Amino acid sequence: IVKYRDVHKSFGELEVLKGINLDIMPSEKVALIGPSGSGKTTIIRMLMTLEEPTLGDIIVDGRNLWKMEKDSKVFRANEKHLRSVRGDIGMVFQHFNLFPHMTILENCMSAPIHVKKIDKQTAKKRSIEMLEKVGLGDKLDNYPSQLSGGQKQRVAMARALVMRPKIMLFDEVTSALDPELVGEVLEVIRDIANKGDMAMVLVTHEMDFAQEIADRIVFLDNGIIAEQGTPTEVLESSNNERLQSFLHRFR
Ligand code: ATP
Repeated sequence: IVKYRDVHKSFGELEVLKGINLDIMPSEKVALIGPSGSGKTTIIRMLMTLEEPTLGDIIVDGRNLWKMEKDSKVFRANEKHLRSVRGDIGMVFQHFNLFPHMTILENCMSAPIHVKKIDKQTAKKRSIEMLEKVGLGDKLDNYPSQLSGGQKQRVAMARALVMRPKIMLFDEVTSALDPELVGEVLEVIRDIANKGDMAMVLVTHEMDFAQEIADRIVFLDNGIIAEQGTPTEVLESSNNERLQSFLHRFR
């Protein structure tokens, strides 16, 4: 469902990605791991169309998100493709990014109404269902400031899921949480993963969790994919020294 082809990304002088080739199959669960600064967030932000590559192709369901302008070396967003792809992709961020002035229910209803043009009643019904699924059916009229970090993150997940995306992106969604709140958020991700139909890309430092739910683990290092494979191949039987020393720090 997603293809990265020789994708490069620089921020000024800093070359963060040096040629990424990555395919994500429909319903596949992929965990992205790697040292801080290796470009994991950048990879998924480009898929969410929040960042554009310096070079290369990112193709979602046959739609190329960027195009090279004729006679110049500049990349331009393929606006038509970007707009249609945005509705297919849901993202959950490290810092929740909820709208503080809206209730939990309004947070969830906003995108379906304004982006997908779904009528208000349907958006409300779906939002309530989704908030009940993540265990927040009794908080519909609360504001984000009245919730714990774990609850906020569950709202963020419900808000993304209400859009019924084909692909869900999770960017270190537990790293801003107190340790005792991590479990409840992982539980929701586990539920989503077990339902099976959505592709998922998770940037995570939770190695045990990655091992449990990922079909494939991708290790990013120095701007390239240095290793990838099943969780067993990557976490238990790889000879890659950089990967070994990275894993030592997390286990
Ligand atoms: P972490 O695990 O610490 O979140 P990461 O692997 O997700 O790291 P990225 O957030 O993708 O790494 O960042 C990769 C590099 O690109 C970092 O050195 C970062 O400082 C730099 N970078 C990211 N976004 C920008 C930006 N908008 N402008 C300049 N530099 C950036």
